[in-house]
Amino acid sequence: MKYYSTNKSVPEVSYEEAIVKGLPEDNGLFMPERIEALPQSFIDELKDSNLQEIGYKVASRFIEDEIPEEDLRQIISETLTFDIPAVHVEGDVYSLELFHGPTLAFKDVGARFLARCLRYFSSKKARKATILVATSGDTGSAVAHGFLGLENINVVILYPKGKVSDIQEKQLTTLGQNITALEVNGTFDDCQALVKKSFLDKPVKAKYHLTSANSINMARLIPQSFYYFWAYAQVKDDRPIYISVPSGNYGNLTAGLLAQKMGLPIDRYIASANANDIVPAYLSNGIFDPRASVQTISNAMDVGNPSNFARMLDLFKDDVNAFRDHISGYSYTDEETRICMQEVYNKHGYMLDPHGAIGYLGLKEYMKDKDGVGVFFETAHPAKFGDVVEETINTKIDIPARLKEYVDKTKVSIEMENSYEELLGIFREVLK
Ligand SMILES: *Cc1c(COP(=O)(O)O)cnc(C)c1O
Repeated sequence: MKYYSTNKSVPEVSYEEAIVKGLPEDNGLFMPERIEALPQSFIDELKDSNLQEIGYKVASRFIEDEIPEEDLRQIISETLTFDIPAVHVEGDVYSLELFHGPTLAFKDVGARFLARCLRYFSSKKARKATILVATSGDTGSAVAHGFLGLENINVVILYPKGKVSDIQEKQLTTLGQNITALEVNGTFDDCQALVKKSFLDKPVKAKYHLTSANSINMARLIPQSFYYFWAYAQVKDDRPIYISVPSGNYGNLTAGLLAQKMGLPIDRYIASANANDIVPAYLSNGIFDPRASVQTISNAMDVGNPSNFARMLDLFKDDVNAFRDHISGYSYTDEETRICMQEVYNKHGYMLDPHGAIGYLGLKEYMKDKDGVGVFFETAHPAKFGDVVEETINTKIDIPARLKEYVDKTKVSIEMENSYEELLGIFREVLK
């Protein structure tokens, strides 16, 4: 399969190149040249299928013969080592729990798949690749965990000292093995600038085979479309189906649009946002107006310039009315989010995290006058946002063992100044 850049000023590349590069040189985003519908029989038989089988059928459309069937099946079974259940919350409303992976957020799915695809390509070439990422918290832990213990891959993570939560820091700094955590005396933007500088430094990039793992990588998007099929398989009856996605960079929702293009009959997507309502505003007034993000309690969605918007525009051929035919958008304040978390817990005994609460609110708003089945994405385990959840619903959360396990481990990091020279020194030391 060939991949083109949404800016269309560089040549098309293979799947391998698209995921090793991450970003095309013209600063667009990679998109597959074709998105073909899966056979109707596949859709009809989804109810009797399983997540692994769905994963293979969907992924092979995007990868074709670049990864042989046996290897691709292996990659998928190692990616999806946990279930993604659709849990009944009330009436016609289901929560698709995407947080049963090792770091308790949906980003595990994309990070694990990307990691294993990169390992496949680098082991074929018998060389070591280096994944370099800057993180403000969650993405880094999913990426680090996704690559943990994979041969031929080193991971270097930069995070801003004192600016990530204790548990996030533990998740980044206690893994060991092929993961190195760099604690930078600076901000997240400084970390990101150091990463960017390394990628632009051609000799350095070539010497260490630097690869990015950020959320715009095609290999993170592809596996996110698996669970739309899986949600459908679990809840579909003969009525329409609606899926509400709490969104920030719109990777998750874009994966849903790919699933729809492949023939999955989803009647409507709901783009549910916090105060960073760039996309809901675009759907209402037709103006895309990116701006600085504002801080909210659903902070993984605090994005002022959603990076996957370019992919959505590409899919809808820059036509806001085509957007509107498929997606409705709503946004909610922190106050509304908290009230929702309280009400759903008190009335239905279901504990929402702040992101899932926004997904639930958007779904309910859309379904007010509809007769169908609705699914919202629960993108993180409530314990990941324990402070907010506990004070909002006045109840202690049971922390899952796989999160607790980090707390007792010892942090290992390399502290450094915001200095490119120092970073190069660390590369020489660590990436021998
Ligand atoms: C990243 C993240 C989101 C936003 O997902 P996008 O694909 O960027 O729209 C929502 N919820 C949680 C918990 C996240 O970590």
